[in-house]
Amino acid sequence: MIPDNFEYAAPRSLKEALELLGRKPDAKLLGGGMSLIPALKHRLAATSLLVDLGRVPDLEGVSEKRGRISIGARTTHAALAIPGALADVHVIHETAGAIGDVQVRNRGTIGGSLVHADPAADWPASFLALDGEAVVVGPKGERTIPAAQFFTGMLASAPKHDEVLTEVRLSAERKRAGTAYVKLRQPASGFAIVGVAACVTLDRRGRIEHAAVAVTGSNPVPFRAAALEKRLVGQTPDAATLRPLCARVEEADPMDDLHASVAYRAHLVGVFALRALVAAGARAAS
Ligand SMILES: Cc1cc2nc3c(=O)[nH]c(=O)nc-3n(C[C@H](O)[C@H](O)[C@H](O)COP(=O)(O)OP(=O)(O)OC[C@H]3O[C@@H](n4cnc5c(N)ncnc54)[C@H](O)[C@@H]3O)c2cc1C
Repeated sequence: MIPDNFEYAAPRSLKEALELLGRKPDAKLLGGGMSLIPALKHRLAATSLLVDLGRVPDLEGVSEKRGRISIGARTTHAALAIPGALADVHVIHETAGAIGDVQVRNRGTIGGSLVHADPAADWPASFLALDGEAVVVGPKGERTIPAAQFFTGMLASAPKHDEVLTEVRLSAERKRAGTAYVKLRQPASGFAIVGVAACVTLDRRGRIEHAAVAVTGSNPVPFRAAALEKRLVGQTPDAATLRPLCARVEEADPMDDLHASVAYRAHLVGVFALRALVAAGARAAS
């Protein structure tokens, strides 16, 4: 289909992008365009001004400062799928590498994915599990949004219409720590029917000291499995011990669609939580 008419602007600075956003209340930012362009073409979204972030400098790349990983919002999934300097933080390259196909990973960005807040998107689970923060810049300056407050509804997130997400910050515990992301892919699109990100830190005896488990694809909004996280403390991270603990994830309130029923999704949440925790626990122990 053909989208309704819109103007296109390619600002060369963040300041210029913010000015353009301020000009029209229905202006939209373009990241990789992997969600927005199909939505415009299907006329599920409309805009009179598309503001392309592609030429705004300093929005791409990965760095690490004082135990926090910093990822530019326009960094593509493909760039993050390469283990590189973050090879030991498996959850990042496992999440990025599990998204869609090569074309989608080459164009789509971590920032666009988080702001779009698709209930079946992969990044939201890892962002929550790694205690992420989103840095947004708007007309009133910069503010930081914790992951727990970022997803506000189905396809809804906290950044306002006139704010640009510039940076995604993630925690990077390495000592006796391991992470993993696993999912059941919808075979055509690759989106998560259920996806689980897990981070596990062990104590000196090899028992779980801290666990973070975050789930996407199940509920309309991604969530941390807080009750499960509490049960895991003090346990050894092997499948036999963890299987009964993962059998029920209290926060799961699964959606019902043509890909999976409520009961099947609820079952998958437990299965994939177990797989993610066992993989993260084995990495923490190695
Ligand atoms: C065939 C196909 C398969 C896919 N499979 C998967 C999959 O398996 N898993 C998965 O997670 N995703 C999947 N996706 C979605 C993909 O990951 C997109 O990259 C992502 O949803 C949106 O990122 P984007 O950079 O393309 O954003 P865009 O489409 O450009 O924008 C999406 C929204 O975010 C806003 N936005 C973008 N960047 C910013 C910013 N920096 N600050 C503020 N707002 C911003 C836009 O205004 C828009 O509202 C798939 C998409 C397609 C087309």
